[in-house]
Amino acid sequence: MVHTLDIRVEKVAQSRVAEMDFHNIDFARQYADHMFIADYDGNEWHDFRIVPYGNISISPANPAIHYGQSVFEGLKAYKNAAGEVLIFRPHKNFERMNISAERMMMPQLSEEIFMEGMRELINLDRDWVPDVAGTSLYIRPFMFATDEYIGVRPSDTFTFMIITCPVGAYYARPVKVKIEEHYTRAVKGGTGFAKTAGNYAASLYPAHLAQKEGYDQLIWTDGQFHKLIEESGTMNIMFVINNTLITAPVGDTILNGITRDSVLELARDWGMKVEVRPLEVEELIAAIEDNQLQEAFGVGTAATIAHIEVIAYRGHDYPLDLGRRQFSAKVLDALNDIRYGRAEDKFGWNYRV
Ligand SMILES: *Cc1c(COP(=O)(O)O)cnc(C)c1O
Repeated sequence: MVHTLDIRVEKVAQSRVAEMDFHNIDFARQYADHMFIADYDGNEWHDFRIVPYGNISISPANPAIHYGQSVFEGLKAYKNAAGEVLIFRPHKNFERMNISAERMMMPQLSEEIFMEGMRELINLDRDWVPDVAGTSLYIRPFMFATDEYIGVRPSDTFTFMIITCPVGAYYARPVKVKIEEHYTRAVKGGTGFAKTAGNYAASLYPAHLAQKEGYDQLIWTDGQFHKLIEESGTMNIMFVINNTLITAPVGDTILNGITRDSVLELARDWGMKVEVRPLEVEELIAAIEDNQLQEAFGVGTAATIAHIEVIAYRGHDYPLDLGRRQFSAKVLDALNDIRYGRAEDKFGWNYRV
């Protein structure tokens, strides 16, 4: 492959990978040896470098800290049986990062910086991509404002970074979710479609309240009337009702999930009936009561599929029969088979490092 980006590489004196036990990964606490950094000077991106993972220095007047001018992405790299490293659909993350950046008045990244920076970093730290069943290397690209200026205005300068950490086999136990009718994650005209810092800070308190009541996550509803199902926690949400896969259309308030897109693509490929349309809470509850709801699950990079075992609505817990989760189990296997290189990659989703 042609190297177009001039990346300065400063390697660690001694890799820490030997200290890793890939059978017992401490989730999001152990980061790989290196990180990628690029700076934006108000005009262009420059100073592309891969350096030992470690703390960075920023001004106390940094606008990302004060005003949240900050965006991120999340994706994963997998090791196949031949020991090759495959990244799942990274161009989608690149495109989405620029969509988030535009909304937050941040500069666009070139595909070259995003892809070459990531490829070089993962290539250097390829021993950090675990090969134990179900594990992967989580990749976190992010960009934040770096002006030393505490006034409210868009920053002129920014930093783009990529850090990575091994993640363990995600034995996603089924989750209990509560339909939220008071708090709001996203509103029309807001920032719900962007992976920007403040969205996640704002969701912590309502999620905490639900957890105190014994639920794992919330089902977010539309901010205006709380009548339409939007997302679940930090995942998109899907339902199988009467053998039809149903999920809300993406837009201002619903993040354009890459897992969501992949699941829809597979379902259509298999000839399943798919409806991308607004789903009312009332319709969902009626489907549960009529025994028509077969499956409910969250979809996102972290867990891929999070099966839902209880939906709570207005103080009532509706248990779902997990024995009916056919499609979600099948699609989880199919996605894993593609990502670990066990099945034909007919959609061209894997990017080989
Ligand atoms: C990241 C994210 C998702 C899932 O997106 P994937 O690309 O599938 O990981 C869904 N909803 C929100 C709010 C998110 O932040």
